[in-house]
Amino acid sequence: MNANIDANENTKVKANMDDPIDSDQIMNPFEAVQLPRVINAAGKMTYLGSSAVRSEVASVMSAASQSYVDMAALKQAIQLRVAELTGAEAACITSCAAAGIIVSIAAVLTGTDLDKVEALPEIKGGKHEVILQKGHAVSFGANLTQMIRMTGATAKEIGTVNGVKPYHLEGAITEATAAIVYVVSHHAVSNEMLSLPEVVAIASKHHIPVIVDAAAEVDLKLYLAQGAALAVYSGHKAIGGPTSGLIIGRQDLIAACQLQEKGYARAMKIGKENIMGFYTALTYYLKEDPQEMADRLKEIVEKLQADIRGCGLTGISTKMAWDATRPIPRLQLIVEQNAAMSAKQLIGRLEQNNPSIRTRNHSADAGMIQFDPRELKIEETRIIAQVIQRIWEG
Ligand SMILES: *Cc1c(COP(=O)(O)O)cnc(C)c1O
Repeated sequence: MNANIDANENTKVKANMDDPIDSDQIMNPFEAVQLPRVINAAGKMTYLGSSAVRSEVASVMSAASQSYVDMAALKQAIQLRVAELTGAEAACITSCAAAGIIVSIAAVLTGTDLDKVEALPEIKGGKHEVILQKGHAVSFGANLTQMIRMTGATAKEIGTVNGVKPYHLEGAITEATAAIVYVVSHHAVSNEMLSLPEVVAIASKHHIPVIVDAAAEVDLKLYLAQGAALAVYSGHKAIGGPTSGLIIGRQDLIAACQLQEKGYARAMKIGKENIMGFYTALTYYLKEDPQEMADRLKEIVEKLQADIRGCGLTGISTKMAWDATRPIPRLQLIVEQNAAMSAKQLIGRLEQNNPSIRTRNHSADAGMIQFDPRELKIEETRIIAQVIQRIWEG
């Protein structure tokens, strides 16, 4: 077993002759600032740079970044095409989903009145409250309610973290209610919260728009079909694009979203290269066969499992498990309670390794480390197994 993949060694060391994996062949553009290459077994995480775009997307971005275009015309053209591709009435491109949430709420507050757009965070005229269920007041790395408050609106949380009933929502709606925000995410509490159709049923009686934060979700039709007025997505999560965001939904509200460019959205702008990168990634995403995708991910998980099992380590076991709501298989590595090292210690050592191996650690306290295949390359499974073996056999 060679030690080329050790933490404190230079990234440039050559792989052993009998090791077919040459770490040097995998480009690390961050070496210029002395940062190690990351092997991403965590999934699509903003803190790791979300998605590595496919080469077709990278070439379009490179060409766009070296050219000029009429930006208003570009946005209009892309937004029309994205609406067509997603089947939505209209679309608005943003710099990310967090910006999309701010822009959506601003749109509900101002409509297409430019005077109101420019006045924010002062809200000119009546409605200024945004309702959300307590179990949806999440942090995705920043607090959702702050995104709401940034517009000048008040975030009104209803119910408790483990229970929201229809009467909570009915009771919270007043003349001041501008919108309801609904979060679909593994970050959110899903038990005992009102479902989206339940929220929509109550909201529509009072003509209140429901804005869905679906940043990391895979389905670009479901939430609008369930009656949401607007649905907000990250361009760099499931869609696999560069840093970008998307709002789709009702024509009149999207027009108001687009107008925010003359106000708040100016500070959250997206450049031509990312607009083109997002659009190109979206076209590939929509052509993907979900079954093929799931099979490809499963193959990576099975290979990783075989590689780790091949090391014959005691005190560690592995099994494959699927995500609760999305077609994503993951490898669960379970560290036995009486093992020499805890799951958390192993996570720390993997992270310190060079290349740095990042895992999914929501269940680390329970002794489980998850390996997510979405951003893993099949040739990286052997490196992971080798590093685990070296750390484990210490
Ligand atoms: C990731 C995430 C966001 C933020 O998305 P960005 O595009 O990174 O701004 C918002 N809400 C939820 C639920 C998320 O998972």
